[in-house]
Amino acid sequence: MNKVYEEVQNERRRQEQKWGPQNHSPANWLMILGEEVGEANKAALEHCFNYKGASLAAYRAELVQVAAVAIAMIESYDRNEAVQDVYLTEQRKRINELCEKLIIKESKT
Ligand SMILES: [Mg+2]
Repeated sequence: MNKVYEEVQNERRRQEQKWGPQNHSPANWLMILGEEVGEANKAALEHCFNYKGASLAAYRAELVQVAAVAIAMIESYDRNEAVQDVYLTEQRKRINELCEKLIIKESKT
């Protein structure tokens, strides 16, 4: 089991060196994770259908990337939790203001 954690940690280091600290919204993070899950799907399918003699090693490598991205998501969440709360509070306030304007506008017509 330690070997797996070491591989995931090495992948996290590689991602950090390549991209630096990433601070995305939850929706964007899920798209990034989905892209990696898609690559794992592709590797599994290529093995399943023996596409160009694909081995399961590529599938395993993609799973390590999936795990590393999930960890990056948690790190980003922990870094930005307070900021996201402020952002969401402001968004909700703007939405409420817009709704009130629409209600006032509709009540006048
Ligand atoms: Mg990948």
